[in-house]
Amino acid sequence: MKRLSLKLKLTLLYSFFMTLLTCAALAILFSLSNKEILASTQNTLKKQLHESLKDIEWEDGSFDLDSDFYNLDGGVYLSLYTENGDFLFGRIPYGFSLHPDFSDGQIQTLSDAEKQWYIYDLSYRLNGYGLVFVRGISSVTDAESSFRITLRFAVIVLPLLVVLTAVIGYLFTRRTLRPVRRITETVRQIQGDQDLSRRVELGKGKDEIYQLADTFDQLLTKIESAFQREQQFTSDVSHELRTPVTVILAQCDAILSDASLPAEQRVSIGLIQKKAQNMAQMISQLLLLSRADQGRQQLQPELLNLSELTEMVCEEQAMLSEEKKIAITTQIEPDLFVKVDETFYIRMLVNLISNAISYGKAGGHILVSCYEQSGFFVGQVEDDGIGIAAEDLPHIWERFYRVDSSRSASGHSGLGLSMVKWIVEAHGGTISVKSSPGEGSIFTFLLPMKAE
Ligand code: ADP
Repeated sequence: MKRLSLKLKLTLLYSFFMTLLTCAALAILFSLSNKEILASTQNTLKKQLHESLKDIEWEDGSFDLDSDFYNLDGGVYLSLYTENGDFLFGRIPYGFSLHPDFSDGQIQTLSDAEKQWYIYDLSYRLNGYGLVFVRGISSVTDAESSFRITLRFAVIVLPLLVVLTAVIGYLFTRRTLRPVRRITETVRQIQGDQDLSRRVELGKGKDEIYQLADTFDQLLTKIESAFQREQQFTSDVSHELRTPVTVILAQCDAILSDASLPAEQRVSIGLIQKKAQNMAQMISQLLLLSRADQGRQQLQPELLNLSELTEMVCEEQAMLSEEKKIAITTQIEPDLFVKVDETFYIRMLVNLISNAISYGKAGGHILVSCYEQSGFFVGQVEDDGIGIAAEDLPHIWERFYRVDSSRSASGHSGLGLSMVKWIVEAHGGTISVKSSPGEGSIFTFLLPMKAE
């Protein structure tokens, strides 16, 4: 039941009640036995006959019968006879060929070739005339067959009514719940593209769902503005921190360039410089990401020989990896031209390689390869380092996520891969990772090749 949609649940609910109602109606109809139908026919016959007596009068030497006597009310045929049984006035059913004796106040049940009849006679003393017989005839067969027709009609129509209510109910519920679908779609779209400017926009309506959608839109407006303020704050703070860090770095350079600086102070200033460099890197990553969030980070793509650029970056990084005795080898298909922003491509690749160095084992290897596949430039950075556990893999792209902060190399804030992912996607590409703990990781990025 939990898996059914609300509209299906509601449809099932009122279809169930409708079926219940139909079953009750049919049960009542079926429980009306033949006996009851026949008893009611007899009662009608008696009642009509008794009522008809007032319609018969004897005036000025002739009978005066009210027109009601001929009306066939309740399907009862009335006729008037003399004391000797001679027919005077009234109506006899078509095909009625029986001539039973009069039996005063008794209902007789008689059958002819086609039908069964109830016959009811009353003797009546008519003022001024004398004794007459009034006879009432009613068809038992007609009463039974009209009941059967009603029953058959009910058996066909009531279930049809259930189906019709279910269909109309389903359509109505679907229409009523359309706004809920819009709300769900909007939330899904926001989850998909993180675009908080989306709104349900159902307009003003009086029903509760419209009010819910309106409240939801108001909430989104508040979240969006809070989010924008937070982005602006991060962007402002990063921007403001850039100048002091630049000054610190410049001062460190100046102090360290003094040859007479005592060794102890040189170490301390070197440490300050290292930390300031880390800080500068973090600030620049934060600034890039907050600008990206605000949609302000522009790319300046140009057609570049990525094979050469990649080779160059690897050579530069090889100098750093040597400190950790990690060898960088390359397998690069020559002259792969792709339209990219040079600075951002370098930042992305440097990040991947510096991670491979940081999380690589001393004496290990890094393989950087590039090739073309199905119109894409494929870049891979493969290391034989510590690897990443399967449960951490989906999270490594999140900001400030570090698998094990105690083991993270200094200067690693957990922003690097978020930035890498943004850069790849901003170029219309994708990035993925395969890793096994203790064996190493392979980061693979694909960039569409727009070059001829
Ligand atoms: P950090 O600045 O801490 O390196 P990243 O966003 O670059 O942050 O990476 C997030 C986390 O992913 C890192 O803390 C690290 O645990 C893991 N990681 C990234 N690259 C590698 C790699 N090549 N080998 C093992 N773990 C890695």
